[in-house]
Amino acid sequence: MPRSDTPRAAIPSVDRVARLPDLAPALARHGRDLVIEAIRDELAALRGALSQGKGAVPDDTALAARVLARVAARAAPSLKPVFNLTGTVLHTNLGRAPLPDEAVAAMAAVAGAANLEYDLAAGRRGDRDSHVEDQLRRLTGAEAATVVNNNAAAVLLVLNSLALRKEVPVSRGELIEIGDSFRMPDLMARAGCRLREVGTTNRTHLKDYAEAIGPRAALLMKVHTSNYVVEGFTAAVGEAALAALAHEHGLPLVVDLGSGTLIDLAAYGLPRETTPRETLAAGADLVTFSGDKLLGGPQAGIIVGRRDLIKKIKRNPMRRALRIDKITLAALAAVLALYDDPARLPERLPTLRLLTRARADIRALAERIRPVLAERLQGTATVDVVDCESQIGSGALPADQLPSAGLAIRPPSGTGDAWLRKLAAAFRALPIPVIGRLSDGALILDLRCLDDDAEFTAQLDRLTPP
Ligand SMILES: *Cc1c(COP(=O)(O)O)cnc(C)c1O
Repeated sequence: MPRSDTPRAAIPSVDRVARLPDLAPALARHGRDLVIEAIRDELAALRGALSQGKGAVPDDTALAARVLARVAARAAPSLKPVFNLTGTVLHTNLGRAPLPDEAVAAMAAVAGAANLEYDLAAGRRGDRDSHVEDQLRRLTGAEAATVVNNNAAAVLLVLNSLALRKEVPVSRGELIEIGDSFRMPDLMARAGCRLREVGTTNRTHLKDYAEAIGPRAALLMKVHTSNYVVEGFTAAVGEAALAALAHEHGLPLVVDLGSGTLIDLAAYGLPRETTPRETLAAGADLVTFSGDKLLGGPQAGIIVGRRDLIKKIKRNPMRRALRIDKITLAALAAVLALYDDPARLPERLPTLRLLTRARADIRALAERIRPVLAERLQGTATVDVVDCESQIGSGALPADQLPSAGLAIRPPSGTGDAWLRKLAAAFRALPIPVIGRLSDGALILDLRCLDDDAEFTAQLDRLTPP
């Protein structure tokens, strides 16, 4: 067939499309490169469709409209808010702890120049830790504190500062992997220290540690087994006994608490978790924990403990590569400040508010939303209010579940999981993507973390069920 007879020959050139008057505002606003990319994408899609005998070359107005849709998609931020209806409150893939308004305001306030490392009283260079150190000391009873980018960085920095080219005994029951690529043995190797495995997976005794302490031992380390529990015939050595043993040998005890709540969660009806204060009081010399897990703040790694050890850590040149930025630091300080008033914490700290939310309250929300969603999915699916269980997430108290409620969407009979997966994709394609969880032949939307049902229902008319 001669080329001129194929519809592909009618595809306009990139240059010609770029000159369409409808695209002029987009060119002015987003620049030439982005618009040209969008045109190329659209023309490639068109070419593909035509080669399969599908579609036709659109007129200029329709073509410009399609290009503009691609421009809009490319120009929109990729990182955006979502509705976390997974039932996992501190969801690592969904940004963990939601920040309080106080933290949001504090971040905006320091977006310009700020006294990040500037001592205003003395008029000379200061220390970025100074903005949170007093608060952290007060909240944990520690002598000193320093903060870095996240808890993985905190552990890396502690090990590299105190145990470079030396041995660190750790119980085999605590050689954890947490989520993506945080494996204690690998991290130790990268920190430049030698892991000395102690005891067995299920049982480790004090004498196992004692035997593992050789002349090259730098410190003893205890790691919170965040995301799993060893049950049955088990034994582990508590902080106090381990601290005593470490101190007998002139070594510090470092405890990686992982989630590290600053308060007794039992006081709020939640499962108990050891606090940094208790761990230090038991004799630990350093404690590391995350800022964005149970603490409810921004991504950060917090190291508290003995002043001389913190000083050594702060002198490590690696700290520069792991340091916290001013925006995060402002958010962290604002969140820590909320802890000064524990009585009001559940209403002011979103993480605690969501974790302590009563099932009856969540159920009432589900009852309100159900008719709206059922109407939208009419004829395609059934929507029921159901009880479900939420998790804290981020490795905190993995065995504990929180009584929750939500909506279960079940597909029309005979369509099964493929239909549900398409529906889940349609929810994710909404302007504020909705992330639920597939379970037992239903798409479950756990409403524990839904604050604004108006915002949720307002976008439902844009949902296109399969
Ligand atoms: C979560 C966790 C870490 C990693 O903390 P990030 O803040 O995610 O870097 C390290 N250790 C333990 C025990 C944890 O639970």
